[in-house]
Amino acid sequence: MKTLLEDLISLQNVEIKIFKASKELEEIPRKVEDIMGIIMARKSTLDAVDEELAALEDRKKPLDAELQETQEILDASDARIKKIKTNKEHMALQREVEIAKKRKADIEEQILNLMERTEKGIQEKGKLQASFNEGKTLLDEKISKLQTKAGELKSVVDTLNTEAGKLRKTVDPTLLSRYERMKKNKNGLVVVSCDNGVCSGCHMHIPPQLFNEIMRGEKLNVCPVCQRVLYTNVKPKARKKVEKEAEEADE
Ligand SMILES: [Zn+2]
Repeated sequence: MKTLLEDLISLQNVEIKIFKASKELEEIPRKVEDIMGIIMARKSTLDAVDEELAALEDRKKPLDAELQETQEILDASDARIKKIKTNKEHMALQREVEIAKKRKADIEEQILNLMERTEKGIQEKGKLQASFNEGKTLLDEKISKLQTKAGELKSVVDTLNTEAGKLRKTVDPTLLSRYERMKKNKNGLVVVSCDNGVCSGCHMHIPPQLFNEIMRGEKLNVCPVCQRVLYTNVKPKARKKVEKEAEEADE
């Protein structure tokens, strides 16, 4: 019985390791996704500044064109003034020049304002870009570490699976099928120790008579509460001591 349980315990230990490694492996894609999410969010802040700069440039273009047109009107006025014959025409041209000058000053002010905002935007973008680059380097490193870890875990799981396959052949078939049935409900912990009369699976006290039977190790004993298979690490010497104490208690 002891040897049978020993093989099953070895299998159980390997399968618990497989379970833990697989769980860790399963969590890695989500962790990588979370980090990618952080990078994307920071990138969208940068993109927003780029969009703002593009919008400023779009507003400046028609103003530049209008400024040029206004300047052309002013440049042409010198030539036109020489051809003027009447006072009325002269006054009309002068009025036209005044309007053009006013418009020019107004456009220049608007362009200056846009240029100042662009300048600020470029500075802000520089700062954001630097912090983004710095953060991205760290986050990329994290992702790369997680990917390395995933590779390691995969190989660990493969090795453990091979080991489990070998061990499964050594376990008594009846015991193995009981184990396979129970392991899903018991988080893989089907065979547990019971060294102080307490089941280490459910932490409940078991009857003293059952504990004696477990120490004898002659048949398969299960916890009456959680149905796990029980074994004890109490050595024969200590067992004798326990039995002696039991005898003394009986007297
Ligand atoms: Zn139990």
